[in-house]
Amino acid sequence: MEQRINELIEMRKSEGLLRSMCDVEPSRGGKVLIEGEEYVNLSSNDYLSIASHPDIVKAMQGGGLPATSSSRLMTGTRKEHSLLEEKVAAFKGKEAAVVFNSGYQANIGIISALCSRTTAVYCDKLSHASIIDGIKLSGAKMIRFRHNDMDHLEELLSRQIGNYKKSLIITETVFSMDGDTPDLKRLTELKDKYDCMLMLDEAHATGVFGENGSGLAEEANISASVDIIMGTFSKALGGFGAYAATSSSLKEYLINTCRSFIYSTSLPVNIILADIASLDVVRLEPERRKELLANSDYMRERLTEKGFNPLGGSQIIPIITADNKRTLKLSEDLKKKGFWVTAVRPPTVPDGESRIRISLNYDHKRTDIDAFLEALAEASGK
Ligand SMILES: *Cc1c(COP(=O)(O)O)cnc(C)c1O
Repeated sequence: MEQRINELIEMRKSEGLLRSMCDVEPSRGGKVLIEGEEYVNLSSNDYLSIASHPDIVKAMQGGGLPATSSSRLMTGTRKEHSLLEEKVAAFKGKEAAVVFNSGYQANIGIISALCSRTTAVYCDKLSHASIIDGIKLSGAKMIRFRHNDMDHLEELLSRQIGNYKKSLIITETVFSMDGDTPDLKRLTELKDKYDCMLMLDEAHATGVFGENGSGLAEEANISASVDIIMGTFSKALGGFGAYAATSSSLKEYLINTCRSFIYSTSLPVNIILADIASLDVVRLEPERRKELLANSDYMRERLTEKGFNPLGGSQIIPIITADNKRTLKLSEDLKKKGFWVTAVRPPTVPDGESRIRISLNYDHKRTDIDAFLEALAEASGK
């Protein structure tokens, strides 16, 4: 056994695919300290740079004893959990909301509660691992459409729809590794035409898009047509945990059937207070998301000018470098120049699509962006 494991590790290493962790200390201004060196952090999902916001930090330190010592349905629901759920429902424009311990737990729990062997689940080829795992756990038939290709989705729907008792379409509103967005209006039309349920994962859009910062369902004005809008507090909101915004009856169904909700201790109150504070920061400081998106456009334009081919239309800006080892080398070279960017490789992305993934944060100013562009041009010989 041990020998087999070591062989697998060696194989990953030789393919340039071995992953490892390093200890990171946060520092201000979109930077991190790693082994005593300071880097511009282009790998953080703290898009609004509010994880260190004084209101959120203060909330995180309050709330009395942190442990709830029980699941939500036992004695683990505090008034703060209920208050957060009310606030999320209002923020998302839905009747009700359920708070989950993490986005991963939300997705595997919700999908496996809603679907079974007689269900078809239509999901994007590039769906997040938590969506794929939820479908696998449910035993439903997984039907994958080409990335953001609504015509392909329709073709699959029209071919398959009679074969299953129920159908669910699930996709992300901003793709974590590509930074792009599906045609949301078209999704709601397909949902109606083929009588499916629709679930959206707004992990990377919450806090960033929409007039009130609630996400792309808000921006596309489709919230009423989406059965479940899930998202996390752990990315742009700078907190921890996740939510599903939905109807009151679906909420009741979920809290009765969703195993990752029922069989897990609820989040500590200080985390919940931080999540509540983060919703207030999003409401009170809209300039953070506006400036972030303007800077993201600026960065994509400059990259294109320099002959790179950036993907996406959000604060997530991937540059495809294809070869695993070349990607790793580029990220190493950029680190030497003071920029922490992650090389994203298979299996997180398809073979041949390794990339440098830049996540821009509010604290990254034009001077940081210009300096990065210069370092990137040098490191890649352009
Ligand atoms: C990060 C992420 C999740 C998981 O959220 P966590 O709260 O980190 O567990 C789910 N879906 C997508 C698209 C994500 O990017």
